[in-house]
Parts: sequence; C-alpha cells; structure tokens
Amino acid sequence: MSTMMVMRVMTPTTMTMTFSRSLPSRFHSIGVNSPSPRSSIRNIAASSSSQGPSKESPSSPSSLSALLNDPCLFRDEGVSFIDGAFSSSSSSKKPVINPANGQTIALADAAAAEETQKAISAAKRAMPEWAAQTAKARGRVLRKWFELIRQNANDLAIIMTAEQGKPLKEARGEIAYANSFLDWYAEEGRRVSGMVLAPTQTTKRQLVVRQPVGVCAAITPWNFPSAMITRKAAPALAAGCSMVIKPSEATPLSALALAELAKRAGVPDGVLSVVVGDASDIGGVMTSHPDVRKLTFTGSTRVGKLLSEQCASTVKNVTMELGGNAPFLVFDDADVDAAVADAMATKFRNAGQVCTATNRMLVQRGVYNEFIEKLAAKTEAMSVTQGLDAGCDMGPLFDLSAPSKAEEHVADALAKGSELLTGGKRDASKGSDAFYLPTVVSCGDRNVELRAFGEETFGPVANVYRFDDEDAAIAMANNTRMGLSAFCHTRDMSRAWRVGEALEYGMVGLNEGALSDEVIPFGGCKESGLGREGGVFGIEAFLETKLMVFGRI
Ligand code: NAP
Repeated sequence: MSTMMVMRVMTPTTMTMTFSRSLPSRFHSIGVNSPSPRSSIRNIAASSSSQGPSKESPSSPSSLSALLNDPCLFRDEGVSFIDGAFSSSSSSKKPVINPANGQTIALADAAAAEETQKAISAAKRAMPEWAAQTAKARGRVLRKWFELIRQNANDLAIIMTAEQGKPLKEARGEIAYANSFLDWYAEEGRRVSGMVLAPTQTTKRQLVVRQPVGVCAAITPWNFPSAMITRKAAPALAAGCSMVIKPSEATPLSALALAELAKRAGVPDGVLSVVVGDASDIGGVMTSHPDVRKLTFTGSTRVGKLLSEQCASTVKNVTMELGGNAPFLVFDDADVDAAVADAMATKFRNAGQVCTATNRMLVQRGVYNEFIEKLAAKTEAMSVTQGLDAGCDMGPLFDLSAPSKAEEHVADALAKGSELLTGGKRDASKGSDAFYLPTVVSCGDRNVELRAFGEETFGPVANVYRFDDEDAAIAMANNTRMGLSAFCHTRDMSRAWRVGEALEYGMVGLNEGALSDEVIPFGGCKESGLGREGGVFGIEAFLETKLMVFGRI
C-alpha cells in the first residue's frame, strides 16, 4: 500500500477534515470510531487503577480521558509545547492510534520547520538565565518535576499503554524508570566540577571549567515514550542546557504529559519544548540549525546514520543510542531455570520492542533441549491480551503493521529448516492485527544463513541457536555490526569474566537480565551508537570542557 494517502480525521471539535501527506504505516486505513458507553468507561477506570480485571482499551479521546485522575495531562487536540505554551501549528492532524484495538484516541500535531525554529529560538533565549542559576536551584526544579511525575504516575502509565500498547505494569515500571533520571540528575548537577592543572611555567595558572554544551535537540522513539525523554532531558537541564524534543509521532501523548508536568514544576518557558510532527522536517531543522549545539538521538541505526551525516555540516556534538542485536549465551554449566527466566524477561518485555532485547539465544549443546522445552512451555503460558487488562504479560506490538518483520523472520527460519515450537502467528481475536503471539523457534545448528541472526527482529520472537564451545559462542555472539547489549549465563566465574571481556558490546549482563537503571552508563559500541546515558557518565554528554590559562602571574 502506498504511504501517500488521503484520510478523514477528527478535529478537537469533532469536525472532519481532509489531509494528504506521507503517513507512517500505523496510520493506514484507520477510521474514527464512536466513544464507548460511559458506564463501561468508568469500569475500566476503576479496574485499571485497582489492577482488577478490565476488558476494554480506550477507543476514543473521551474514553481515555475518563480513565485519568487528571485529564489535563491528556492532550488529545493535536498540539506541540513550544516556549511554555501548548499550541497547534497547523490544521492538518494525524490520528494517534491505540494499537490494542486500532482506534483513534487522540490527534497528533503536524508541526514542521517553522515551529521547530520557534522552539529553537525560545531555547536559545531561555538558556542563559537557566544556565546562570546554581545547579542546586536547577536541581530544585527537577526535583519538583520528579515529585509531580510520581504523584501522576498512574495517569502517565495509562496514557502510555493507550498509545503504545505495553502492559500497564510495564508502563508503570517505565514511569518509575523515567523518573529515576530526574531523581538522579536533580543531585548530579551539583557534582559537575572542573580542575586546576599543575602549571608548566611558574608564571602561568591553568584551569579547566565545565559549561553547558548549549541548546540541545532530542529525537526519541515510540518504544519507551517517557524514559527516553527524561534520560536526555534530566541531565541536559541539570547541566544548564535547554532542550527541544521531537517524540515519535506515534506516541506524542506521553511526551506532552511530561511537558505539562515540567511546566507545573517551574521549568522556565523555552527551556524545554516538545515539537510533534513530521520527522524529516523537524529533524532537518534540528540537525542543520547553527544554534543547536548538540543532538541526542535514540532510535534505529538507519536513522542515526542519516542524522549523523546531517549534523556533520555544523559539526554538532552527537549522542547516538541505536539498534541492537543482543546475543544471550547459555553454557552447559548454567542454572537453566534462571537462564530461561532471564531469557523470557529480555525477550518478551514490551513485546520484544526493546533495543537491549535478546535477539539471538545461543545455547550450548548439552542443555539445548532442556532450555528450548522450558522456554517454549513458559512462553506458551503467557497471557497475551490488551495492556490495561489485569494479568497481561504481553500486549500488542505498537503498530498494526509491526508484526510483519516477525512474520518475515519466522517464515525465513522455517523455510530454511528451523522448527516452530510455539506462536508464529498474529492473533487478531485479541483486539487488533497488532497482536503477534510470543514465539519460540528452534534453529539448531543454523545461524548466519537466517535473516533473524543478522537483523534486529524487534518483536516477540525467540530464535534459539546451538553452539559447541566457548570460542564458537563468542565468535557467533560478535558476528554482527551491532554492539549494544549481551547476556551470558554460566556458573563458572572465570568463564563469566572471560566471556564478559570478549563480548564486543557496550553492556553485558552476566547471570543477569536487567541492564537499565539511572546509575549505569547505558549505550553501545560498533553500529549501536556513540556515547552513554545515565549515571555520572550521562551528564558529560551535555558539558563542554573549557580551558582558561592565566598568564603573567
Ligand atoms: P526510528 O524509526 O529510528 O525512529 C526514532 C525517532 O526518529 C522517532 O522519533 C522518529 O520519528 C524519528 N525519525 C525517523 N526518521 C527520521 C528522520 N529522517 N529525521 C529525523 N527523525 C526521524 O526508530 P524506532 O522504530 O522509533 O525505534 C526502534 C529503534 O530504536 C530500534 O532499532 C531500537 O533498537 C532503537 N532503540 C535504541 C535505544 C538505545 O538506547 N540504544 C533505545 C530504544 C530504541 P517518527 O516516529 O515520528 O517517524
């Protein structure tokens, strides 16, 4: 189907209008539906906040609004947040789709070059006063933002589940994770300090000072609609920078809700803006504008390369958090049950749409059969349902067309002789075509000839490959241009150390599946990116190092 199409969409005042433009696949052929009856809406609200059973996912702006304690956090009318104000830039809007049922829950703004320029100008204007404050004063504002996010965590999680599809418990986890960066950087700004260097001449004194890098631009993906924003904005603002954020058009609602809370917290106008709209228009301005000194991007390697090229003409400082192709090694001496538990967590969280998600399970011959049997049994027992349903283990993928890559990878593996152990198909009976069943494929001794071995599936498909010895496992694991995350299960600590050192990845989990928190340096090497986010490392990305030499002393 062509991506150029004409659609009728709902305006805030329920009028209809027509627009014609290039649309991402999630916007194809989606109609606007009528709201659910109010009585059922109230039931969902009650059950989702108490974690009791629920049956329906929001299917209109009003049905999502009714689930929230503070409906003002939900901006359904297609706006951006520029220079401290929510405004709509154009009359054409795009629908924001709930992937669990394919229904329109809001409109997204279609801002472009002009609005991006306005946001950058506001960021430039606002930065000197923000940067001139003490780190402690900036920290107080970040701390207030943290408190407001904590108080509104349930609403933020519901909004996220509605626009992205992940289970509510995962959305709550993401809000806590997102907020941990505000918690950390509210303090960390005060620890930025320079250095006095030993003089090389008796008449000289040499100082190094750290200063905010300047106006920053951030482009973030749909898979972690809140955490990828705070992981960038918290250190940037703590360092004294201002920031213009472009969230994914697929998930603008979480970004706008965070912006609303930032405003309430006292983040000054212009210091933080959110521009929702066409990716290449906004990205084009962000990457070429001379007043933007830093671009921080999280997304695919393909787009990361493009943006890096675009940034070259103004020699911008860049941070690139890009795609992965994580290996998960299980040795014969591993605790197989623990390995299966971590394999499940690293594979099926967010329906496999995680950059650190295990993409290749490499299992030694002696435990191969035990591992795949246990993995398939646990996978089959997962509750796949709408994200707001109590007990949901896995929701839909984020987009109605998203399962197609999983389908292609599974078809390719099966055509080449692999065995399907469970899943392997969509299940629209769950609510929409975005549901793809969690899948386990036993690939045996096949590997590089399978597409899934070399490409990030970004879906709930566990491909399991067999290996014979440590050297072969390391060679297989490193046989990729990606280098974000890797995992290894073994009870032999010497082996864990050796393998940990040999894996060419930015992050390695040894008998551990969870890699992300606010303290650690998150990031990859090779084509998985440049730079680190989080902890003491994350603020470095927003600081310039300046030398001041005092002479004639
Ligand atoms: P994507 O297609 O690269 O999109 C990421 C962001 O870039 C979105 O905001 C997108 O906007 C925007 N974008 C797309 N084309 C652009 C262009 N020409 N100019 C400017 N901006 C553009 O990636 P995705 O599919 O959303 O996310 C999945 C990928 O992100 C996976 O590869 C995953 O591994 C990676 N990821 C990495 C990390 C990490 O920390 N390393 C974390 C999460 C995800 P629209 O969505 O509005 O088109």
